[in-house]
Amino acid sequence: MALVAAKCTECAASIEVDDCKEAGICNFCGTAFVTKKIIQQTLITKNVFGDRGKSAEDFCADGETFLKLKDWEKAEEAFDTATTLEPSNYIGWLGLVKVHTENFTSFFDSVHIEYYEKSLAVAKDESEKVIINETYEK
Ligand SMILES: [Zn+2]
Repeated sequence: MALVAAKCTECAASIEVDDCKEAGICNFCGTAFVTKKIIQQTLITKNVFGDRGKSAEDFCADGETFLKLKDWEKAEEAFDTATTLEPSNYIGWLGLVKVHTENFTSFFDSVHIEYYEKSLAVAKDESEKVIINETYEK
C-alpha cells in the first residue's frame, strides 16, 4: 500500500489515495473515484495549471509568508496571482503595496500608491477601508 497525494475531481479537496486499490471514495464529499484516473488527473492539473487549484486566499497567505521572509519577488508573484484570480479581494492589492514598500519600510517605489488605491477601490465596506488605512499608516 502506498498513499499518493491527489485532488478530488469533484470538490478539489487534497486527498490521499491508496494506489494499490482500484477505487476509493473522497473523504470530503463522498465521490467515488477510480484510483488510476484520479492520480493521472491530478498530475495533469499540476503540470498544466501549476498551483492554480489554490484560491486567492491561499496565494495571499503565501504572499504574507514571503513578506515575512523578505522575499519580495516571490511575495509579488503570490499577490499577483491572487489579484488575477480574484481582483475584488483587497488583501491581494494590499499585499502588493507591502511588496513595493518592502513591508512599509521603503517608499521610493511610487507604484505602491497605485496598488493602495486599487485596494481601497475594491474594498467592500468601510471596515475594510479602515483595515487598509490602518495597515498603510503603520
Ligand atoms: Zn471530494
